Amino acid sequence: MCAILVHVIKSNTKTGKKQVRKAKKMTERFITSTLNRRDPVKETSLRPPKFADFPGQDKVKEQLELFVRAAKARDEALDHILLCGPPGLGKTTLAYIIANERGTNLKSSSGPAIEKPGDLAGLLTALEPGDVLFIDEIHRLNTSVEEYLYSAMEDFFIDIMLEQGAGARSVRLTIPRFTLVGATTRQGMISSPLRSRFGLNIRLDYYDVESLCRILKRSAGILDVELEDDGAREIASRCRGTPRIANNLLRRARDYAQIKADSVITGQVAADALEMLQIAPDGLDEMDLRILEVIVVNFHGGPVGLKNIAVSVGEEESSIEDVYEPFLIQRGYLVRTSKGRVATPKAWEKLGLRPLNSQQELF
Ligand code: ADP
Repeated sequence: MCAILVHVIKSNTKTGKKQVRKAKKMTERFITSTLNRRDPVKETSLRPPKFADFPGQDKVKEQLELFVRAAKARDEALDHILLCGPPGLGKTTLAYIIANERGTNLKSSSGPAIEKPGDLAGLLTALEPGDVLFIDEIHRLNTSVEEYLYSAMEDFFIDIMLEQGAGARSVRLTIPRFTLVGATTRQGMISSPLRSRFGLNIRLDYYDVESLCRILKRSAGILDVELEDDGAREIASRCRGTPRIANNLLRRARDYAQIKADSVITGQVAADALEMLQIAPDGLDEMDLRILEVIVVNFHGGPVGLKNIAVSVGEEESSIEDVYEPFLIQRGYLVRTSKGRVATPKAWEKLGLRPLNSQQELF
């Protein structure tokens, strides 16, 4: 739709030019911000219910499977688990699988939704023995709530204050033994008292192409769309190693195939669909390139602070830190130093430039 908008406005005057720029920006944003956006309704249908249906993350799966089996054999609640990693890699899915394989219920909430200690008390007292409480974005819990969580995690009680001032008194609520599964995209923002209360601290990595092909084949079966091996490989290599993006690209490729190619996603159909979405063969999108360009051109390769990058590219600091930066670091375009972000020689080459001598010496 935005492409049409750009085309229509293009034929107009100066204001038109301004609007073209705005519309182009919207097109880019539409791509980057929507592809990794959570859609609970669509995602539920594609969520694997068991470890056996969850391709990739083999080391993590092995640890978790063993952990669940041991707790099940002893008929105990699992120890608390912290899952870290960029958005869309399967943290929520793993929390559901853990509860499912352990044979317990899962109650779900998120850091920003638990505003007061009373909200936390409500969640905890509704749990049954062995239940899993999943808290997404746990790094965003406010400090007063987090402090109540300590005694709940360690000793399975919370002391809630009733009334304020002279008449203040506290009531102790005991909580059944439960398992807290916390998910975060920012491990560094979790306080050490909270981190130390998790028995298992797990980090998810970006997926390799083989695992993503298996995820895509499974999703295609559920969505009832014909996906050829080459088509799966094309999507898998352009989805930033992220299953959520892979599934979203699959839906877009399905629409494209339905209208233009007899509903079959071949390698060529997938490539054409992704081309239309402006997704480069290496998975870098407009925003990735803009970030690299700002560091290399405006700041001579860095080091440059996150704030400066965010202002220059017009994107939220949080989405640069959560979505773009981890991928650029993992692909070797960027490094994080104590003074700020620095573009690697690979980033200069990507932009068709030669690193300055001072930059080369850094590496
Ligand atoms: P996160 O909580 O890390 O943001 P989710 O667990 O919500 O990510 O996963 C996003 C989407 O990707 C869901 O539709 C989920 O089913 C799918 N997904 C993630 N990891 C896998 C996997 N290993 N196998 C199959 N699907 C996956």
